[in-house]
Amino acid sequence: MRHTKQTDLPMNKNILIIPGDGIGQEVTKWGTAILEKIAELHGHNFVFDEAIMGHTAIEATGNPLPDETLEKAKTSDAILFGAIGHAKYDNDPSAKVRPEQGLLKIRKELGLYANLRPILLFDELLDASSLKPEVLRGTDILFFRELTGDVYFGEKNRSADGNFASDLMNYNRFEVERIAVKAFEAARTRRGKLCSVDKANVLETSRLWRETVQEIAKKYPDVETEHMFIDNAAMQLVKNPRKFDVVLTANLFGDILTDEASQIAGSMGMLASASVGDGTGFYEPIHGSAHDIAGQNKANPLASILSAALMLDIGFGLKEEAGLVTNAVAETLKAGFRTMDIADTSTAKENILGTNEMGIKVLETVTEFVNQ
Ligand code: NAD
Repeated sequence: MRHTKQTDLPMNKNILIIPGDGIGQEVTKWGTAILEKIAELHGHNFVFDEAIMGHTAIEATGNPLPDETLEKAKTSDAILFGAIGHAKYDNDPSAKVRPEQGLLKIRKELGLYANLRPILLFDELLDASSLKPEVLRGTDILFFRELTGDVYFGEKNRSADGNFASDLMNYNRFEVERIAVKAFEAARTRRGKLCSVDKANVLETSRLWRETVQEIAKKYPDVETEHMFIDNAAMQLVKNPRKFDVVLTANLFGDILTDEASQIAGSMGMLASASVGDGTGFYEPIHGSAHDIAGQNKANPLASILSAALMLDIGFGLKEEAGLVTNAVAETLKAGFRTMDIADTSTAKENILGTNEMGIKVLETVTEFVNQ
């Protein structure tokens, strides 16, 4: 007989779902389904609303981030996001209205200055990575990527003749301080190590970054702090990923390093992220809208499901529920089920699942865990 696990304190939360474009729409369906299932099994009251963004929003309204979406985002307790993007814009860099403008704007408007990306390695996927299992085993990294500053938000210029372009890289001390504090606090709850990545031998913004992190480090004598140049960090990450615990870095360096780190976890389709600041948190897979596989039921939904787990954990403090979801993902992988991106030659053909079938497996496993 099925029973509902009633927690001591049922939570009331308003969750905004922004599926976005391409596979964003396909995978977010399953992140949402997991949240609904957790609410049902644990007696929480999650109220869901949906909004458009990206190419879908441009087509409907001419605006990649319609006011209505932004308004809903500001008044919700948490946002589950898919991805934005469309091939049309990738091949036309001159397009003035672009899907990614919506994403950059919502990050800025919600003050989402810290992007947390856990590199969680499931033992079952050791062989799915292009790196050797003995190099990977035991890897557990938490990236803190600064999200609302750096060269992405600096002034952009193009000369009249089109032959010169510039993007201004800039940081304010307070922008470094606030994310550094979050990263040091997290390091305290983990293995007590923090590696700050910069390019202080060349860039003035990096010198400010390093100086500021050194100052903050004085308040955390229990955390072992290291500073590393980005070029060295990119190399160390594949040479010996186990050496890293918390990695703190700026927007541009973090963008690149975390995609590199996705190979440790086997696929972009496995990595979740949380963007947080002082208000509503934003939870999303690290991958994009993947035009090459969109609409084919091929996308791995686990990054969206793990993003839902991050929402439960970081956003709502529901550690038990978050653990349940992560364990259900691990159990599903242990049972041999794979999506195409994480399958290898040893995967039985019948165990290679589509997006929807994988989503259903995880849902079933969550339910089985609760009913045990
Ligand atoms: P991408 O992350 O969409 O895809 C990179 C590769 O990984 C592709 O081969 C894709 O098939 C694969 N992949 C990604 N997610 C997967 C999943 N869940 N399951 C299985 N395979 C997966 O990056 P891209 O191809 O460089 O960009 C495609 C579009 O996405 C572009 O328009 C880009 O601007 C946009 N984009 C959006 C975001 C975002 O919304 N946060 C992030 C990155 C790229």
